[in-house]
Amino acid sequence: MSFLKRMIKDGIREGVSNAIGDAVKGAVEPAATNLANKAAAKIEDVAEKVNAEAAEKQAETKSAFSGLEGAFANLEKAAQSYATEISKNMKVCPECNTPTDAAKKFCPECGAKLPEETVADSSVCKECGTQNTPGTKFCQECGAKLPAAEKEEADAQAKDNDVMATWDEYMSMYPKWTFGGKDMVLEDYGGHIYFGMTFNTSFAAQNAVRQYKALLEDNGFVQAGKYPSENELYKMIDGVCYHVSFSNCFENDPERPGISFATGEPQGGFDWSPQKEKQKEREEFMEGLNKVKGLFGKK
Ligand SMILES: [Zn+2]
Ligand SMILES: [Zn+2]
Repeated sequence: MSFLKRMIKDGIREGVSNAIGDAVKGAVEPAATNLANKAAAKIEDVAEKVNAEAAEKQAETKSAFSGLEGAFANLEKAAQSYATEISKNMKVCPECNTPTDAAKKFCPECGAKLPEETVADSSVCKECGTQNTPGTKFCQECGAKLPAAEKEEADAQAKDNDVMATWDEYMSMYPKWTFGGKDMVLEDYGGHIYFGMTFNTSFAAQNAVRQYKALLEDNGFVQAGKYPSENELYKMIDGVCYHVSFSNCFENDPERPGISFATGEPQGGFDWSPQKEKQKEREEFMEGLNKVKGLFGKK
C-alpha cells in the first residue's frame, strides 16, 4: 500500500467511532423531544378534563400525573433503549463511515461490503450477554470491557503499528521510536517529516523525548554547525546530512510532542569549526586578491 493511501485510510479509521456516536445521538434526540412533547400534550388533556368534570376525574388525573412522572424519570432510559433499538438496525460502512440500514449488504454510498455485525452487536457483553447502550465502554451489568471498546483500542493499536511500519519503510536512517505514546502520526511534507504522538502526562512526554535524544546520540547524531543546540541533532551518512529537530517539540501541547526529520546541514555546515571558518575566510580573501591581480594583468 502506498504511503499516501495508508495516510488516507488512517484518517477514515479515526472517523468511524465518531460517526457511530453522531448517528446514535441523531437518532436519540428527536425521539426524546417527541416523548417530552407527548407528555406535555397529555398534561394539557388532563387539565381540561379536570375543569370539566372535576370530581369524578380526580382519580384519573392522579394516575395520569403519576404516569408522567415515571415517563420523565425514565426519559433517559427510554432514550438509551431507543438508541439500542436503532443500532440493532444499523451498520456503519468500514470504508466511508456512512451509517446505513442493517438489511443492506453493500454500502449505498461507496459500494463497499458491509460487515455482518450491527452497531448494537458490538455492545453485547461477551461475558454475560447483556445488550448495552451503544457508545458505552464497559458492561453495565458485569463491568467487562465491551467488544466495541476492544475494537476501538485494537484499531488505535493497528493505526500506531501502521505508522511504525511506515517508519521502517521510509526512516531507517533514524533510530526507531520505541518510547510509547499513542495516536501516532507520521506526516510527509515533501522532504520534511513530522512525527507526533500523545501521552497521558507531560512528564511522560518529556521523559520519552529525553530518551529518544539519548538514543539518537548513541547512534551518532550530534550537535553541529555554527550555532549548536541540544534541540538540533545531525548525522552525516554517505554525504547526506540527516537532521532531527526538537525545537518546536512541545509548542502545541505538552502531552503531545512533535519531532521533525529532514535532510540538510546546519548553518555554517555540518563540520563547522572556528579554525575552518578562519581557513575559509583566508581562502576567500586569497581568491579575491587573485581576481584583483588578474584584472591588472599581474602574475
Ligand atoms: Zn461506504
Ligand atoms: Zn457483562
